[in-house]
Amino acid sequence: MARLVMKFGGTSVANIERIKNVARHVQREVEAGQDVAVVVSAMSGKTNELVAWCKEGAALYDAREYDAVVASGEQVTSGLLAIVLQDMGIKARSWQGWQIPIRTSDAHGSARIEAIDPAALNEGFARGEVAVIAGFQGVHAATGRLTTLGRGGSDTSAVAIAAAIGADRCDIYTDVDGVYTTDPRIVPKARRLDRVAFEEMLEMASLGAKVLQVRSVEVAMVHKVKTFVRSSFDDPADPKPGTLICDEEDIVEQQVVTGIAYSKDEAQITLRDVADKPGVAAAIFVPLAESNINVDMIIQVVSDDAKTTDLTFTVPTADYERARKILENAKADIGYEGIHGATDVVKVSAIGIGMRSHAGVAARAFKALSDKGINIRAITTSEIKFSVLIGAEYTELAVRTLHTLYGLDKA
Ligand code: ADP
Ligand code: ASP
Ligand code: MG
Repeated sequence: MARLVMKFGGTSVANIERIKNVARHVQREVEAGQDVAVVVSAMSGKTNELVAWCKEGAALYDAREYDAVVASGEQVTSGLLAIVLQDMGIKARSWQGWQIPIRTSDAHGSARIEAIDPAALNEGFARGEVAVIAGFQGVHAATGRLTTLGRGGSDTSAVAIAAAIGADRCDIYTDVDGVYTTDPRIVPKARRLDRVAFEEMLEMASLGAKVLQVRSVEVAMVHKVKTFVRSSFDDPADPKPGTLICDEEDIVEQQVVTGIAYSKDEAQITLRDVADKPGVAAAIFVPLAESNINVDMIIQVVSDDAKTTDLTFTVPTADYERARKILENAKADIGYEGIHGATDVVKVSAIGIGMRSHAGVAARAFKALSDKGINIRAITTSEIKFSVLIGAEYTELAVRTLHTLYGLDKA
């Protein structure tokens, strides 16, 4: 019998009316004669509320207890969907991560799935039961503690379950009808893509397109899970196929640039008049690395006097204050004049496999952005993407400018 995983995000299960709508989508697939596992997120806004409560409880809270709190949002929606399905005459039961079990690492708050035992789910399918699974959560086997997979983690739950039960496909239902050339909420001219290559989707997600959690794309790519992004707002009786995430070879018409992403989760730090001598970069970046702070973009300005230089780099916004403190404490070791920082910055990126075979793609962007008076503070490039760091006030203008420049606007 064909097998399907259906995942529904926060807005898709925002209230009982929306959960009843989800149940109608599930009913359609059950009536088509498939084994169905449904993965649900918490109701929209719920996880934010739970996170805020933890922070209010204590500035430095126990990450294991944070997981115990935030995992509860998904417990509620899994039970509610099972209740609604049963009321429609569909056999269903809820499953929490620990009941399956979905085993994870013990990195509380951002745990990684290590193994999923499909046995209990298979027995449920044999009984003709829909499995309604709480997304986002798992259990660390050695300690028996609840874990969560990081924000947006229900996507990863869904794809990993699809791999574990050998599902024919995994449908990620959300509040947009597929993956777009950029966030359709900020660019009305964004176009829906029929297909996106795994590698492009991985970059788009890493660079800020939150439509899929990065880890879910990795799992889909490694386990070759046929994954679609589609809308739960479609009529359950007449749904659209959405966007297929697939191998590069399966894309017929390859564009040079496939999508534009942006991320506000980046802060800039500049060290002025750093001694221009061997060992300085190590003196700066080793202490940051030792504190698990990821440095992303780095720019070193060539010095006029060959004695000092300016160094600019970016860190995740959440680590900004910590990074500054570490660098201030290491001031004598590093030897610099001043430290400046900014959190009102945004990283805008263009992604496309076609960049591999086209020169000058990024250069065109630098020109277009300067024509709009947008100052670029840092740049990084790699084989299939480039990113620029700019003032946050230019986010929409920059995204729209690049979207038009690379011919992505819908007709
Ligand atoms: P869910 O709650 O269903 O998991 P998310 O809010 O996590 O939904 O992700 C869906 C949102 O992702 C959309 O509402 C959209 O604003 C945003 N998004 C950002 N970039 C893109 C993109 N390139 N294509 C589609 N959606 C995108
Ligand atoms: N509810 C969790 C979150 O908001 C997980 C998810 O929705 O995927 O991050
Ligand atoms: Mg999401």
